[in-house]
Formats: sequence, C-alpha cells, structure tokens
Amino acid sequence: MTVGLVTTVLGEIEPSELGRTMMHEHLLITFDRWARDAGIEQPPEGPAITLANRGEIARHSSGLDHRIDDVDEAIAETRLYAEVGGGTIVDATNPDLTRDPEALRTISEATGVHVVMGAGHYLNEHHPLDMDERSEEQLFEEMVGDVTEGADGTSIRSGIIGEIGCQYPLHPNEEKTLRAATRASLATGAALLIHPGRDHRAPLELMRIVIEAGGRPERAIMSHLDRTVFEDDELVELAKTGCYLEFDLFGQESSWYMHAPIDMPNDATRIDHLQHLIAEGFGDRLLVAQDICRKVALCTYGGPGYGHILRNVVPMMQRKGMSAAEIDAILIDNPARILAMIEPS
Ligand SMILES: [Zn+2]
Repeated sequence: MTVGLVTTVLGEIEPSELGRTMMHEHLLITFDRWARDAGIEQPPEGPAITLANRGEIARHSSGLDHRIDDVDEAIAETRLYAEVGGGTIVDATNPDLTRDPEALRTISEATGVHVVMGAGHYLNEHHPLDMDERSEEQLFEEMVGDVTEGADGTSIRSGIIGEIGCQYPLHPNEEKTLRAATRASLATGAALLIHPGRDHRAPLELMRIVIEAGGRPERAIMSHLDRTVFEDDELVELAKTGCYLEFDLFGQESSWYMHAPIDMPNDATRIDHLQHLIAEGFGDRLLVAQDICRKVALCTYGGPGYGHILRNVVPMMQRKGMSAAEIDAILIDNPARILAMIEPS
C-alpha cells in the first residue's frame, strides 16, 4: 500500500476521490460462519420476512434476518446509496462475519461505489473454533497479510483493520486480537476500527489497551458509541484520548435494543451528541454510519438502507443548526483523513 492513498477492493485511490463515506457497514454478512463450516447445527432461520411479520422481526430479529448474503440484492441496495450521493462504504466485515473479497469487488464494479474492506476478528462467540491456539503473532501476521498482500487467498487487500469485536468484560481472545490488530495497524499504516463492549466503561478501557500495545489513538476508531456512551462528559473524555468517535447506528429509531437492556437514542439525540462534541472542539474526530447487518435494515425489506444518513439525517443536521462545513467534515474530510494509509512504524 502507498502512504497517503486509500486501499479499496478495486485498488488504491486518492482520499479526495472517496466522497461521502459511511464508515461502518456490512454489504454482506452472516454470523455463524465457522460453526456452519464445522457442521454444527444452527437454530432454525425463522419465516420469510413479509409485511405482516416485519415489525416483530425488526424488534426481535431472526436467523434469516441476520443473513445478508445475496450479491444481486447488495448491488441494488448499494445503487440506492449511490443515487443519493454516496461515494464510499467501509465494509467492516471481517472473516468471522463471512467477509467475501470477490463479492465486494463485484458490488463495487457494478455500482461505482468505492468499498474499503475490513480484517481481523469479531466477538469471542463468533471466533474460529481454534482461536485459543492462535497466538497474537499469528493473528498479527494474518491481518498484516490481508492489508499488504490480499485477503482469503485473493489479491484483494483490506483497507482497514476491523471491526475488532470486544465484549465487556473483555474475553482473553478478544484482548489478544485487539493487541494484534493494534500492532497490525502500526505495521501497515491502516486505521483500526474497534467494536466496544456494551458498557459505558468499555471504550476507555479498550483505548488503554491500544495505547499500551503502542497504538496511536489518532489511528483508532471507536464504533457504536450511540449504544455505549450516553453522557456528553464521558464522550468528551473519550475524545480527549485522540481517537475517532463513531456514531454508526443511525436509522435505528427504536427505544428498545435486542442485545442488552439499553434505552436506545434516536437520530435526533445522536445529532445532539455530535453537536456537543463539535462545540467542545472535536469536529475533526467524528464519523457516522448505519451499521447495516440485518435484512430489515435494507430498503428491500422496508428498512432505511445505506442511503438513510444522506437522505434523511443530513437535512435534520441542517435543521438543527449544523453548518455545511461541519457536516462535510463528518461525511467527507474525517473519513478521508483516517482511511489514508500512513507511514508504517
Ligand atoms: Zn459492524
């Protein structure tokens, strides 16, 4: 990879070519890859999604809901994103989530949308079955290879390390992976994308581990803050570490959260947090996305789709008083800065 350029699934491009960028999405994703490969029986997928059952599936999900694996459908959904002015999607899917480099290349070629591919490992329960035996060094080499040579036996290279799955409390294999990912980020110059545990203390704890492992906070992105840290003061404390703060659950407007007893914020509240952080001087550290990982989030199944932020959230940002420069920083300038490869160290 070349210092100053962004690695996409179609090759390297100038950061100025990215355009509006969603920093954390999944164009294709399934959650049971290694178990399925090993022939371990999975729970029934549930019924096909219809208008009559969509509301309940949106609330509680299902095996089928959590399976986005149709390339043609992904192309159609990505075209909708391009039509509302979307330029780039960071596909945060790592191998545990059934990353598919060739399919991502097909989607990018068919739509003209730049796709930056992820690397690394997700949460402990989704890890490869031999994760206990894998050393930090092996994990490091695997991630470096994805960025420098190509992923999964292809010549298609990852442009970001992540999303790296972490729970609260942190599982030892997750900590091992986070250390390896931090070192791989340094060794390649690629950014590091972290999925924190669902506890307000998790992001700061993870940043401590990143810093201990020699990582540079300004190359780290803390995802999913909209379901993790709810107090502005705590968000400011996290921002002071120097990392990027990602609000990537835009479009999830329900108060109810299926994974944990959390009162979810809505899009307006997410914007309030962004505005507070801008007022505190952290406008150059903010990133957004919709983290689409379920069928019901796709337009095909009655969801908001990858274009939701551009279609619906940007007008709300304007109405709530954000300037064009503040909005462009979040959608264009900050992604361009964090995705450009830096000098490896
Ligand atoms: Zn994700």
